[in-house]
Amino acid sequence: MSEIRFCPLRGERVIIAPNRLHRPIDFAFCEKERENINECPFERGRENFTPKEIFSLKNERGEWLVRVVPNLYHALSVENRKRSFRDGFFEYAEGLGAHEVVIETPDHFKKMRDYDVFEFRNYLFALKSRYIDLQNDKRLEYISIFKNQGLNAGATLRHPHSQIIATSFIPKDIREEIERKREYFKKHNRALMDDIINEEIKIDKRVVSKNDDFIAFSPFASFFPFEIFIAPLFPISSIALLDEKRLFSLSEILRDIFKRLYEVLGDFDFNLIFKNSPPKTNQRDPNFFYELNDFYRFYIQITPRLYKFAGFEIATKMHINPLSPEEAADKLKNI
Ligand SMILES: [Zn+2]
Repeated sequence: MSEIRFCPLRGERVIIAPNRLHRPIDFAFCEKERENINECPFERGRENFTPKEIFSLKNERGEWLVRVVPNLYHALSVENRKRSFRDGFFEYAEGLGAHEVVIETPDHFKKMRDYDVFEFRNYLFALKSRYIDLQNDKRLEYISIFKNQGLNAGATLRHPHSQIIATSFIPKDIREEIERKREYFKKHNRALMDDIINEEIKIDKRVVSKNDDFIAFSPFASFFPFEIFIAPLFPISSIALLDEKRLFSLSEILRDIFKRLYEVLGDFDFNLIFKNSPPKTNQRDPNFFYELNDFYRFYIQITPRLYKFAGFEIATKMHINPLSPEEAADKLKNI
């Protein structure tokens, strides 16, 4: 069973999950990709190698296109309870939460640059459906959706997949981001992200792509070369609220951005992160959700992982980015 331990120095928790150590790691066999398919638990026809399916979308022949299953090597479990204990000076809790794997496609070798609009739409629809379902468990205070692509980004399996980890607490960084947005809204009566978007459109130096509903840009203070934010041009706080038209708009812009990134960077590792407002739960502070939908904007962060982190980043949580976002946007725009 996993545990959530609290570090009093850093004011943040850590998930201690010993069963994660036994995960298969297939990147060591990159040279022998063909053999790997026979051992891949995410192939069609090998459905019984994963835990019982939670969600799937199927084609007219009844074959799955996108599939969601519990993570066999889960860091957290819904079987655990929301209670904490003391261990002398220290504090810890049972590893309550959910940990799911979204198998994005039956094709082992496909990359996001190859997805068409319908594949992106199906992928986003699966994420939306899982988000809506997980929101119903009121013990879960935050739902993190992310994809690790490649070794540099922390992926351990090649088959295209994303993960959903729902926690019984809001991680410190997320909580701080919410409070910054709340403060900004109190002061200006506008969402921080809306003002950032308006500024990016006005100066038009870092906008890479735009359609009726979404904008993609290199953020002014990009932490990494070619970092991209995709944000909505309408007020929406989570993926749960995207209707069918906007799922397609988002699919279109994701497709465009990944085409551009692969064109400029070749085959690259990245993290893709979906930032949603926390679902409504019984927070200790009764005002926590007040105006949340007015000041929190859903957005997507794409972080290419062109190199590994080093001591400075871990020591200070600060990054040194060798490429200006203006130059990155310029390269991505002019492919
Ligand atoms: Zn596979």
